[in-house]
Amino acid sequence: HAVIHWFKRDLRVRDNTALSRASAVAKGKGIGLIGIWLMSPQDWEAHLVSPAKCDFELRSVALLQKELAELDVPLYIETVTSRKDIPQRLLNLAKEWKVKNMFCNLEYEPDELRREERLVRLGAEQGINFEPFHDDCVVPPGSLKTGAGKQFAVYSPWYRAWVAHLHANPHLLNERPIPEKNPPGFRNKFETLFDHEIPPAPDSKALNIGQKERFSRLWPAGEAAALDRIGLFLTEKVERYTATRNFPAQKSTASVSVHHAAGTLAARTSVRMARDVNSTKKLDGGIEGVKGWIGEVAWRDFYRHVLVNWPYVCMNKPFKFEYTNIEWEYNNEHFRAWTEGRTGYPIVDAAMRCLNSTAYMHNRLRMVTASFLAKHLLLDWRLGEQYFITHLIDGDFASNNGGWGFSSSTGVDPQPYFRVFNPWLQSEKFDAEGEFIREWVPELRGIEGQGVHNPYQKGGEAERIAKKEGYPKVIVEHKFARNRCLERYKAGLGRE
Ligand code: FAD
Repeated sequence: HAVIHWFKRDLRVRDNTALSRASAVAKGKGIGLIGIWLMSPQDWEAHLVSPAKCDFELRSVALLQKELAELDVPLYIETVTSRKDIPQRLLNLAKEWKVKNMFCNLEYEPDELRREERLVRLGAEQGINFEPFHDDCVVPPGSLKTGAGKQFAVYSPWYRAWVAHLHANPHLLNERPIPEKNPPGFRNKFETLFDHEIPPAPDSKALNIGQKERFSRLWPAGEAAALDRIGLFLTEKVERYTATRNFPAQKSTASVSVHHAAGTLAARTSVRMARDVNSTKKLDGGIEGVKGWIGEVAWRDFYRHVLVNWPYVCMNKPFKFEYTNIEWEYNNEHFRAWTEGRTGYPIVDAAMRCLNSTAYMHNRLRMVTASFLAKHLLLDWRLGEQYFITHLIDGDFASNNGGWGFSSSTGVDPQPYFRVFNPWLQSEKFDAEGEFIREWVPELRGIEGQGVHNPYQKGGEAERIAKKEGYPKVIVEHKFARNRCLERYKAGLGRE
């Protein structure tokens, strides 16, 4: 009587590969389309999804339900207690509604791949055709190989292959058609499916009222908000992206990672829209900022390809095995100071407080704070990876794991281990006026000029204010930390 599309990390109606296909099949058979969204608190727990992200997803699901209803497509919503029951629950719903075809977009982490594999198998046994599609990456994983037929483990040659592949296969960037309106009469027949309430977040993921209001204001949910954000970025900011992207106070980036992570915006849509700003319609030419921005969205694909090719990165293992032997410090006080923004390094503290308050951090600062945790504090990078994913609204396993691997030098195509960011120099370079620091570290607001980057070293008025306001002294001395890091990494690598 209908076909099903199962929504997961693709909470949108537009440019959605499997949804579009489901609608086409329904139309071909002269039947209707039903959407399903299952809330799985166990999955949220297992994947350490932040409360801010759970809330963003729930808000997006509410908007998706409305958009679908305009097409007379119902969105069936249910909470499934045990995640291992999801495949059979989906098949039971299909049987109840006499559905023979079910669609979804693939997620690439091992648990999710295994679940989808089970659904294909159980479905086949029970007479239901379950079809997962590539959609999350612009170039499907598995499409790119080195000249020697191997997987790429370095971004630059991978990026060149990625661009060449898209130029040779432009259809990959085509917009997937929006679903058709369901046939007349469908709504009456499935009336009860139309009024499902959005469940509240489970207790462990619930936000308080103040947080809820703040995040709704900062991060409007749903695909219309996503298209607004990217539209604004492409008309007002992209041209200067390359020149401005590293300066947090300038707020010059697109702020669409939250939408890519929830699937309220497809990475494909982003790349296509950016490409179309270029009169050449090329991905790697034309306006410098457009090229640069597409290159950043490509990093997202890169880390997903890595995850598919080397799934052990999902299992708490560093991409580079030789980095397994680094002897980390397990200093809880240092870890707590880092999480709370009390390290005595203003740029690190500003960034961490920004994360705790807004559930977001600028890319430059993610690199600075991650490097600080792994190299200055010599804390296991996995602690930081975990803290980020449990607090970010755009938390995404592949990008987060990739970013932590890069910054701690244990990952794929990383920062060389001997490159230890000097937080003060990073601060002077990328927050030259101290604007970002003053926004997030109120103790230092009264300091004028350059003293804000390192008040205790600067002495004088800067030091006096920092002391008076109770701003902490550095918890680890920079030179000592740098030397300790180099020694420990070298020893771990057996290079002494
Ligand atoms: P823009 O600069 O406008 O970039 C456009 C898009 O490209 C982003 O929305 C994002 O989807 C993608 N992108 C940009 N840079 C990267 C990158 N380095 N890796 C992967 N994708 C990228 N990004 C996440 O989406 N989720 C995470 O959990 C995450 N964790 C990170 C952890 C660390 C330690 C580091 C160094 C980076 C992490 N990133 C993560 C990547 C990056 O910081 C964010 O994607 C970016 O800051 C989002 O802001 P934006 O949308 O304004 O980005």
